[in-house]
Amino acid sequence: MSFHATVLTLYPEMFPGPLGISLAGRAQSEGKWSLEAVQIRDFAADKHKTVDDTPAGGGAGMVLRVDVLAAAVDYARAANPDAPVLAMTPRGKPLTQARVRELAAGPGVIVLCGRFEGFDERIFEGRGVEEVSVGDIVLSGGEPAALMLLDACIRLLPGVMGAASSGAEESFENGLLEYPHFTRPAMWEGRTIPEVLRSGDHAKIEGWRKSRSEVDTRLRRPDLWERHCDARVQSASGEQAKKKD
Ligand code: SAH
Repeated sequence: MSFHATVLTLYPEMFPGPLGISLAGRAQSEGKWSLEAVQIRDFAADKHKTVDDTPAGGGAGMVLRVDVLAAAVDYARAANPDAPVLAMTPRGKPLTQARVRELAAGPGVIVLCGRFEGFDERIFEGRGVEEVSVGDIVLSGGEPAALMLLDACIRLLPGVMGAASSGAEESFENGLLEYPHFTRPAMWEGRTIPEVLRSGDHAKIEGWRKSRSEVDTRLRRPDLWERHCDARVQSASGEQAKKKD
């Protein structure tokens, strides 16, 4: 069975949007993944189709009602019972490439997109929903976040990316940023390409790339670098423990 995405949203017309073109669009028409965008409003019980209400305790904005959200989630789960349900929220766990890989290896995802002030908190425990953030920024709705998440999963599906190797060397796959790239022209506005990349010496090129990947990660993303170093120390001590056995 191929990867199936169900997106629960007040704006189903935003889908597939950018996922309908290029790599993801081609893969969709080839049946490598499929999408259903579901209107949350269809699950409102009153005749005005109300999906939101004022926040308990007062304050600005409106909150998505838990009963309406639950009905929408139940509908999506019935069609794709094994897919995890993810809610897009800045309060969620930051999305990582490792989580994206896990999701891409599964049956698909059910993605809940918020609007206004967000969701009634009870939906998360009440329906076993995973809260996911796409960064320390505030969007006006969960739809662009859902598009990001799906794009990241789709490019990893079997047969979607051209060269099989192009996924493995990418940033974050080994906990580091990727090395920088260059192409022709060799000289542009007085700027050259690092000499080593034109040397044809593959071992030297590989060494340069590894070192730039490490240096750039250390300087640009000290958080990633620290985690990478911790993981290396841990795996080294794991090796020593094995030798002692
Ligand atoms: N009141 C909320 C923000 C609501 S923004 C807060 O301060 O935490 C409206 C909707 O946009 C959210 O419900 C969520 O679905 C989406 N959204 C905004 N920023 C996001 C982010 N960084 N990651 C994922 N979804 C986000």
